[in-house]
Amino acid sequence: MTNDQKSRKMLIGGQWVEALDGATFDTADPATEEVLATVPAAGSTDVDRAVNAAREAFEPGSAWRGLPPAARGRIIHRIGDLILEHAEELALLESRDNGKPVFIASLADIPMAADTFHYMSGWATKIEGNTIPMSSAAPGRFLSFTQREPIGVVGQIVPWNYPLLMAAWKLAPALAAGCTIVLKPAEQTPLTALRLGELIQEAGVPDGVVNIITGDGATGAALVAHPGVDKIAFTGSTEVGKEIIRASADNVKKVTLELGGKSPNVIYADADLERAIAKSAEAIFFNQGETCFAGSRLYVERPVHDEVVAGLKAAAEQLTVGKGTEPTTMMGPLVSAEQLDRVMGYVTSGVAEGATLVTGGERLGDEGHFMAPTIFTDTKPSMRIVAEEIFGPVLVVLPFDTLDEIVAIEKDNPYGLAAGVFTRDIDKAFRTASAIRAGTVFVNTWNAVDSALPFGGYKQSGWGRELGHAVLDNYLETKSIITEFS
Ligand code: ADP
Repeated sequence: MTNDQKSRKMLIGGQWVEALDGATFDTADPATEEVLATVPAAGSTDVDRAVNAAREAFEPGSAWRGLPPAARGRIIHRIGDLILEHAEELALLESRDNGKPVFIASLADIPMAADTFHYMSGWATKIEGNTIPMSSAAPGRFLSFTQREPIGVVGQIVPWNYPLLMAAWKLAPALAAGCTIVLKPAEQTPLTALRLGELIQEAGVPDGVVNIITGDGATGAALVAHPGVDKIAFTGSTEVGKEIIRASADNVKKVTLELGGKSPNVIYADADLERAIAKSAEAIFFNQGETCFAGSRLYVERPVHDEVVAGLKAAAEQLTVGKGTEPTTMMGPLVSAEQLDRVMGYVTSGVAEGATLVTGGERLGDEGHFMAPTIFTDTKPSMRIVAEEIFGPVLVVLPFDTLDEIVAIEKDNPYGLAAGVFTRDIDKAFRTASAIRAGTVFVNTWNAVDSALPFGGYKQSGWGRELGHAVLDNYLETKSIITEFS
């Protein structure tokens, strides 16, 4: 290992380096508040170094640009293999740095990160243009076709909720497209991305193709402002997404964004209620509710409202909250003291605005950032807990009588990342799925995200799509080549 336990370096141009000015910051275990490691705080000169390394690696004739697509695909596949070979170590590291239960990291984050590389590796050899006849010329006078080319140097900024998985969602398709990258993990959770950097080197990715720099929002902002970056791919809050749009204007960077959500989940009275309750609890409480597409706004058809709320209350109270590294833990601490304060602030506002607290609503213990799974009823669309993204284990429940009522409320939802519907009636399922403007709709399920399926947001939930072959568009330009025969 290049990096020792306590003091980590970042990856620039194939070298593990400190920040030029020696600046560092600490990353802590959210369960114990113990410092796990000290990490470089990249300043603008470090960002410059990383972008220059990525530019050099993108030059025509570089080791990366000269690779046949099949060889590129094999390297990307190997990264997936190496993640699986180190799955246990990575799951533990993720659990300690983020707080999430190790069982979630082992079942979801790590295998899905590997799968993203495996799935995307196949696309390296399937990037194709089209032969397109000229519409206004006699057939045979021209040969015209399109060619897809990598967009160039990509700046990728990811959040702390699924640190390794979000890095994989960004890196794998950009590599498949043939781009070079400067990746910035979130300051709360840089450790698995740095470990991934070592695996990327081991897989044979040439120096400078993937650079991983650590730092906070200022480092991200320097990356967004850098004129040597052709494209920014960002996952995080809608607020920062808006800043990125503004800051990328100077050199008209291409931007894709995967932002926040307040995802509606609809339970009809005819649903398999046992399943609907279990899945709806999972939709909000999985990963401490720190999921951009968490099912955080639950509509329950009035006749089953009380039964569903009772079921959800029981499900919430059965969740074992504890240190992520304990094998029995179902819900870990929130990622930071700041996040706990933010979420508890919403609980206070919900109570103040007159919602009924059915369960939870309190901090657990005084070490670490633990809180109880929380459910509110008697809520109104105007309340902050209903209107805003909380990004924590807080569910708001609204009774409904007709789909029209839901549609009317959802019209004002600024987000459109995901939605869910539970019913045994296929007509209701499709009517509801069509009526709600969201990038993903789960029917009788939740959290069913797959490498092959496009994922992204309508409205203020983002621009562009992650995953599937759709994501390749984020990292490719289209060139039309037109030849006229004499
Ligand atoms: P969250 O609210 O979930 O912490 P943020 O949107 O604040 O999400 O952060 C997501 C990522 O964006 C992190 O890697 C963070 O360091 C980075 N970031 C924060 N502010 C900026 C900014 N102004 N420009 C670029 N990146 C930023």
